[in-house]
Amino acid sequence: MFGTGGIGANSVPTNIWDIIYWADLLVIVILFIAKRLHFDKRPVGTKRAFTAFSFALMLFALNFWAADIIKPQMIMRKAQSDKTYVVRYLGLGPWLLTDGYYTHVANEQRANAKLQTFQQVQNYIKKNRYLAPNVSFDQSKSLTKRNVIVIHLESFQQFIINLKITGSDGQQREVTPFLNSIYNSTETYSFENFYSQIGQGKTSDAETMLETSTFGLSSGSFLNTYGPTQTFQAMPAILSQTQGYSSAVFHGNRGSFYNRIGTYKSMGYQNFFDQSFFDSNKNTRANTYGIKDKLLFRDSVPYLEQLQQPFYVKYLTVSNHLPYTIGKEDEDPNFQTVNTGNKSVDNYFLTAHYLDQSIKQFYDYLKESGLYDKSVIVLYGDHFGVSNENSPDLAKVFNNNPTASLNFTEDDYDSFDWTQLQKTPFMINIPGNKEGKKISTFTGEIDVMPTLEHLLGIDTSNYVQFGQDMFASGRQNWVALRNGGFISPDITLPSLNSKTIYDTRTGLPIAELTEEQKKTVEETKAKVTELLKMSDELNNQNLLQFYTPQGFKPVDSADYNYSFASTLKRLAEQQKSLGAGSTSLWSQRGDKTSLPLYTTDIPEVKNGEDVPIYTPKQ
Ligand code: MN
Repeated sequence: MFGTGGIGANSVPTNIWDIIYWADLLVIVILFIAKRLHFDKRPVGTKRAFTAFSFALMLFALNFWAADIIKPQMIMRKAQSDKTYVVRYLGLGPWLLTDGYYTHVANEQRANAKLQTFQQVQNYIKKNRYLAPNVSFDQSKSLTKRNVIVIHLESFQQFIINLKITGSDGQQREVTPFLNSIYNSTETYSFENFYSQIGQGKTSDAETMLETSTFGLSSGSFLNTYGPTQTFQAMPAILSQTQGYSSAVFHGNRGSFYNRIGTYKSMGYQNFFDQSFFDSNKNTRANTYGIKDKLLFRDSVPYLEQLQQPFYVKYLTVSNHLPYTIGKEDEDPNFQTVNTGNKSVDNYFLTAHYLDQSIKQFYDYLKESGLYDKSVIVLYGDHFGVSNENSPDLAKVFNNNPTASLNFTEDDYDSFDWTQLQKTPFMINIPGNKEGKKISTFTGEIDVMPTLEHLLGIDTSNYVQFGQDMFASGRQNWVALRNGGFISPDITLPSLNSKTIYDTRTGLPIAELTEEQKKTVEETKAKVTELLKMSDELNNQNLLQFYTPQGFKPVDSADYNYSFASTLKRLAEQQKSLGAGSTSLWSQRGDKTSLPLYTTDIPEVKNGEDVPIYTPKQ
């Protein structure tokens, strides 16, 4: 299993005898149905309750002890990498107890981390991962000191790009005409074979890779588990220290989700505008996962315009997220989605279209305000949106559709197709650039950070990063998946232990591997395993605590305060003390807001309405 973000049947080694663990439950249910068993309605005395509880506890201890004998060290080794294993063998109660215990083990592991282990990782990076920027690609000078705007397209898959779908009125329409125009523009480097490399941490894993060029963990969310206490040499700190960038994240959800508040401080983000900075009235302005995207982009302006330029900002969108619902008031009357009979698939195109519109409105603002020409805009999809279970129904959209970039039928849908569905868009949009093109190199989320650093003229030779510059010559020609599988232009191994190996070009299983193919598979598998192992050691043991790159000042999370009051105070004071030297848009516009430049069709907002900064209710 990979990428489904939950407990899947394949995530735990299964055995036909596992059914025995559920046999007792089955017997009890049958007895109840047959009315051979009844609830005892008599009140229970304290002493009796205590006896029963103690007895249960003893049974549990016995169970625990027996499990450890039957599966020696199972708990020791497995609990951290795969908690579902514990749940399956011991039950949910014991899991809660063991989870607490293994948090303790994780802390021990970090306390016992060794400098020597770090040196092994560092040697590995120098020998296998680091690539100098490609000298033939000389954009660096013109891009230096440009604002960097990263737009995280929630759950956005590559197949949506340039796809036309047939609405229930029989008309064909592009789902995301605006994003398509950016994807196809000569101002954009668009990667056709970019893969999401997330594990169970999904969105947070994507963030981990983009901000640090290290992988999420084999199980759970790295940000959630370690983010706030981790030593990072992350994107916002590097950009701030080497090039004087300010930094901010805009997000429509609560800041505590995935431990983002603590993590962003450790990463050196100067500002975090989470839900508390916006009017998020649930009835009109927010959906399940937070403030609607159109509102997030627009309501971010009063804050964005106060940041010193150049800035590095990230927008975490939320509207195109399961369950893919938007209000009727937000539906585009000129757009109609497909009717596959699968609501999850049909609605996915509706919210993707909404996201497209919200980005177009933000782009219009960037152009109106002049920020556009001073920026590099990076757009990427974090991971799949349609689940493995629902994906076979996409066949109804793809079949006989010349605009479909993927194709399979409901009957022949297999793990190769699921691997192809991990493709997400990755675009580097550079206004004024004329050399943009589509690039077919096999790349993934782990590669974004060194690529952007090199574009911005940053020397990465002293950093510990597991990605490779997407433009560099001599880079590897395979993409590692978090489950140990890989994709190369020739071969697809859907997961580490996959029995079937596919020809990437035809999508068909390779019946008999040639000797050469066998060798390639074994070698690449070993490389993927080593890559993931090195990243896991670094992150699990917090090995960067032993290392400060030359010229880098360690980040102290205590230096950051994201509260509403202190954020506004800090931004105002910065602009005041810099005076004529302040490079914020607000200062450049003579202390006037640029919000009236924002044109939007949000039903909650009257066009051009000049709203003051939202003040949270105390
Ligand atoms: Mn996500």
